[in-house]
Amino acid sequence: MSSKPGSKPLRVAVVGGSMGGLTTALLLRDLGHEVDVFERATGELTGFGAGIVAHEVSTRYFVQRTPDWLAQTTVHVPSHRMLDGSGALLWDYPVAYRFVSWGGLYRALLGAFGRERYHQGAALVGFDQDAAGVDLRFASGRESRYDLLVLADGLLSTGRQRLFPGVEPVYSGYVAWRGTVAEGDIPARILQQLDDTITYVLVPNSHILVYPIPGNDNRVDRGHRSWNFVWYRNVAKGAALEELLTDRDGYPHSASLRPGRVQDRYVHELKEHASAALPQDVAAIVNATEQPFIQAVMDVESPAMAVGRVCILGDAAFVARPHAAAGTAKAAENAWTLAAAIATVEDDLPDALQRWSAHQTALGSSLVARSRHMGEGSQFRCDWRPGDPALRFGLYEPGDSCTWTRAAHSAAATRREEGGARSE
Ligand SMILES: Cc1cc2nc3c(=O)[nH]c(=O)nc-3n(C[C@H](O)[C@H](O)[C@H](O)COP(=O)(O)OP(=O)(O)OC[C@H]3O[C@@H](n4cnc5c(N)ncnc54)[C@H](O)[C@@H]3O)c2cc1C
Repeated sequence: MSSKPGSKPLRVAVVGGSMGGLTTALLLRDLGHEVDVFERATGELTGFGAGIVAHEVSTRYFVQRTPDWLAQTTVHVPSHRMLDGSGALLWDYPVAYRFVSWGGLYRALLGAFGRERYHQGAALVGFDQDAAGVDLRFASGRESRYDLLVLADGLLSTGRQRLFPGVEPVYSGYVAWRGTVAEGDIPARILQQLDDTITYVLVPNSHILVYPIPGNDNRVDRGHRSWNFVWYRNVAKGAALEELLTDRDGYPHSASLRPGRVQDRYVHELKEHASAALPQDVAAIVNATEQPFIQAVMDVESPAMAVGRVCILGDAAFVARPHAAAGTAKAAENAWTLAAAIATVEDDLPDALQRWSAHQTALGSSLVARSRHMGEGSQFRCDWRPGDPALRFGLYEPGDSCTWTRAAHSAAATRREEGGARSE
């Protein structure tokens, strides 16, 4: 992809230096534009130490440059099975998922972009735009003018509050307990039960997933990986949720608690309930986790993704419940299609952004709706059917995260062409 010959480089500000922001910054810089990334955090972003599905679009930047990148950095899982609470097999099926560590992917993106124009401790507080540009204001007092502002500032986006006041995260009625355990700390007899699979356990009004991911040092060889669990548990909105999201020092949080911050009594309850309600091998992973952490499951839906010269992407624009495992893929797809739209701009940038917004807003809305339906089915309607293809991971449709097959590759290529064509 390259910019139109002879066109003047755009000055681009990307706010938020995580998955969506860094992917956008890399792709727009590769087009020849002058890109600055502004990230509020002061140190290196440290992940929750958890894994994400290596969707084709999330890893495309690296796979295009290093063909064996996937083999080096992701864990391949060839089978998906569902159990009931007693451990009885309900269903199993071959899949081709790959999992990458959040930290590994973030460090790769940051390494590729470099630190020269990655400005940390830079919190956007406001902006104004006119026909020719966007004026940005930062908490530090810095003020800068750019041709294009890309807001990639996540779930609690300041940018979204300015663009679309009133669009807020909506709590789903349940939280995701998550955690990781080093493979070396798991007894061999437990690993034998779980290996080579992503295991779901379906219990009334809840479900848990267990699967292998790269280890702390990003190693993917057996014995050095980690095991990741995600357990969805219902917590009523209001006092119960507020108390759970109050950290061990008494500070309230609105959306998540990091490893080591959850009050001990909740960790004890989690482990006791795991032993009582889950098959032994799955409970063993929960019980071996030293610092489980919590994310409140939320929906965010923006009415559009571009207003004039400002666009918004990733979790800042739409947050889907994690059941389709496509949050990072959506952020990356937003970035790749935005770059395709900008690559073809003649002179009317806002018009190109509007067309990009139309198809990526449709993607965000459909992913939020599909993920909400999946979540409600597990947590409230209790109508999940083991083996239902609609429960598979996917960005545009269930199953498209099984990317490493010929069919999925050509489907992804077709979608890219359609996305590019729509944004021209
Ligand atoms: C530190 C961290 C760890 C994560 N770990 C995992 C994980 O293990 N597994 C998983 O599935 N998902 C994880 N996520 C979430 C995941 O990255 C997102 O759900 C998804 O990839 C979409 O990414 P995003 O770039 O749109 O948003 P995010 O990843 O949420 O990034 C938003 C970024 O914007 C920055 N920011 C916010 N407000 C401002 C502001 N006013 N000015 C400047 N910068 C601002 C934030 O500091 C953050 O770096 C993590 C996110 C973060 C930030």
